[in-house]
Amino acid sequence: MAGGTSGAVDSVAVIGGSIAGCAAAVVLHRAGARRVVVHERATAELADRGVGVAVHTERCAELLAAGLLDEAVPWEPMRVRHWYVRDGSSALGRVVGSQPLPFRAYGWGHLWQALRARVPREVEFRTGSVVRAIAAGPDGVAVRGTGGEERYAAVVGADGHASLVRDHLHPGLTPSPAGYPAWRGACPEERLRGLGDRADGVCAYVVFDGGHMVVYRIPDGRGGRLVNWVLYATVPGAMAASRTLDAAHRERLDEITDELLPPFWGELIRRTGPDSVFLQRLYDVTAPRYSSGRLLLLGDAATVARPHTGAGAVKALQDVAVLESSLAGAGSWASAAGAYDAARAPVGRAMTALGRRLGRGLVEATPAWRAQDGAALDSWWEELAGQGGFGGRELAR
Ligand SMILES: Cc1cc2nc3c(=O)[nH]c(=O)nc-3n(C[C@H](O)[C@H](O)[C@H](O)COP(=O)(O)OP(=O)(O)OC[C@H]3O[C@@H](n4cnc5c(N)ncnc54)[C@H](O)[C@@H]3O)c2cc1C
Repeated sequence: MAGGTSGAVDSVAVIGGSIAGCAAAVVLHRAGARRVVVHERATAELADRGVGVAVHTERCAELLAAGLLDEAVPWEPMRVRHWYVRDGSSALGRVVGSQPLPFRAYGWGHLWQALRARVPREVEFRTGSVVRAIAAGPDGVAVRGTGGEERYAAVVGADGHASLVRDHLHPGLTPSPAGYPAWRGACPEERLRGLGDRADGVCAYVVFDGGHMVVYRIPDGRGGRLVNWVLYATVPGAMAASRTLDAAHRERLDEITDELLPPFWGELIRRTGPDSVFLQRLYDVTAPRYSSGRLLLLGDAATVARPHTGAGAVKALQDVAVLESSLAGAGSWASAAGAYDAARAPVGRAMTALGRRLGRGLVEATPAWRAQDGAALDSWWEELAGQGGFGGRELAR
């Protein structure tokens, strides 16, 4: 490929301008790409739509060193995970086990904003730019969308779980629904004042038959905090169709809030406000190959693992870090893309498998929570997650 200063990169279209897309634009520019254009379909400010992202402290250190995380982004510390079950009128419930949980809790919008701010001026970042089709040939890729048709030497698919680039690389490979959704919300902490005494640094796993809720604090960006929560449970006979809650998902959330959660955690959902709660549909999919010819996949476009893994954003940023190191050591796009695929596709497969295992243990076939004690809980968790990967695998570059 003709070209940039690295010899491996010429002109690249990055499809998607979220976490993976912004980070990819940064490293492609650092690798000497002559021209980088980011096509982002959204016109509204992405930063306003996110809630919380938990990042393992060891993965944080690796991503800070790779120049893909910014120490200035605000975060809240997590140190320990308490597992709570409902226990009569006890506000928080009873703790059936505790484990170390060294994570940083970020606001998604702050992470995205910091990455967006790092995208150099030389990169063309187009919002409201929808890519509708791509056609890859031996000499380059035609990209058709809002701006008409343009040609690039390569295309990076950072276009999320319903990736058009993945469809092109692997026709017929469709994300398989997990079979249950996540309800998400973030409640200003002051709305909970006086309801229960919670120490700083605690991540709560509030568990019940058929599901659980994960709760941790994130910065609100104005000096205060939000209490971020995500709740997973099956909804017999109903499938989530959009971010908005339909009657079946409202009813199930009400039932869990009123009957299955300890009072404090139910009140957290109520005080978040019904209009601020949204649904996230969950999928499993992993591309058998992360690159072929002039097309390459990153982040959720490459692999979607269930959020129980605590590693969606980490996985996306690790993909980008490995793309950068692969480009640095290669004389051509083809050899860089091959090295990238060899390093990252197995990680994607492992993360999807972990997400399925955790989904089974935490939602689909939950243990008798009330009968657990600390030791039983530790060995149950070890069986589910002991092969590693919770919070992301170690970054090998
Ligand atoms: C607005 C937003 C808020 C989020 N909030 C959270 C959160 O709070 N917590 C959390 O854990 N995860 C959140 N996520 C998901 C999280 O970013 C991903 O799971 C993970 O970080 C991997 O990111 P990604 O960039 O690969 O994919 P995504 O974040 O899904 O980004 C894909 C991007 O591609 C764009 N796109 C897709 N198709 C096209 C097309 N044809 N043409 C142009 N653009 C296209 C989308 O608009 C989107 O911005 C959020 C994602 C988005 C988009």
